[in-house]
Amino acid sequence: MASKDFYNVLGVAEKASADEIKKQYRRLAKQYHPDANKGDPKAAERFKEISEAYQVLGDEKKRKQYDEMRRLGAFDGYSPSGAGARGGRASGRTSGPAGGASFEEFDIGGLGGLGDLFSSMFGGGARQRPSGPEQGQSVETTLEVPFRIAAVGGKVPIDLEVNEECRTCQGTGAARGAQLKTCPECGGRGTISFGQGGFAVNRPCPMCLGKGKIPTAKCPTCGGSGEQRAHRKINITVPPGTDTGTKMRIKGQGGRGIRGGPPGDVILTFQVKPDAQWAREGLDLVVRTEVNVAQATLGSKVTVDTLDGKRVSIRVPAGTPSGKRLRVRGQGIDKDGKHGDLIVEVAVVVPDKLTGEAERLMKAFAEALKLEY
Ligand SMILES: [Zn+2]
Ligand SMILES: [Zn+2]
Repeated sequence: MASKDFYNVLGVAEKASADEIKKQYRRLAKQYHPDANKGDPKAAERFKEISEAYQVLGDEKKRKQYDEMRRLGAFDGYSPSGAGARGGRASGRTSGPAGGASFEEFDIGGLGGLGDLFSSMFGGGARQRPSGPEQGQSVETTLEVPFRIAAVGGKVPIDLEVNEECRTCQGTGAARGAQLKTCPECGGRGTISFGQGGFAVNRPCPMCLGKGKIPTAKCPTCGGSGEQRAHRKINITVPPGTDTGTKMRIKGQGGRGIRGGPPGDVILTFQVKPDAQWAREGLDLVVRTEVNVAQATLGSKVTVDTLDGKRVSIRVPAGTPSGKRLRVRGQGIDKDGKHGDLIVEVAVVVPDKLTGEAERLMKAFAEALKLEY
């Protein structure tokens, strides 16, 4: 059963006033009334249609709801563009059993207050799935980032596996040389209707997958779906101060859109690779530096690398124990206008072997302090 448009049934404009609708209904009702058309089943059918249409359009509240449903595409095979109807594909998973959100769920989320009208028309059990353009699959993935790039920012390539148009058939699903013929199941509309009463609800045709045409022979690469898994390499700009668990959405780099819809997104979760030299504590950078026991005792100047490749010198004061942390202000990670510090952690190294003059002096040192050795 084809879907019926109540405005068409009554032959009035969408913007017609309540008065115009009422007048038009009266005119048609008189014309097709069974009493005036005895034995004419077509007129009886027409009269029934007119009455159904007027039941909705003649009631201000029901008309408003009907207009809203029309606007959201509940009757013409186009996907509702409001909230609620999407989502299912956004994470690459479909919600609800068997991939179709029940109209009840969809209803509450996106249409508000239409449940009454809808269930009165469909007995409450109708299910519907958007059949118009739909956003492509979104891809969620983790990206490992080298320590330095995560701290100061930079570019990292990523290899994504997404649904793309099949290159063999350019998305038609047809084998080379095959012809596209009108789908016999849906008559080329791409949707099939179901429901009863005044109008029907459309859903994507399972035979042609909503395309309206089917090939005489299916593409051997994609099996007729018109899609194939493909690897796509893109460069990700990693912002400075990126930490493990930081998420980023890259618009339009996910799977290709369905029935002409926009492509999906890529949702990245960064994972910062540990580094042998560096560690992070919030925006502070921690770097370890080794000093000899004599330097730690007497005090010394040491030079350490910063993340941007410069070197800074700091003074290790006399009598610095191993593990002591020295802070260099503002030389850490910059993020959103905040600056972390560079923390130099001193590791005191004891020489494992002394010879000659060094050994002699160390012994003298021990004797001066009356140490046994
Ligand atoms: Zn079809
Ligand atoms: Zn193909």
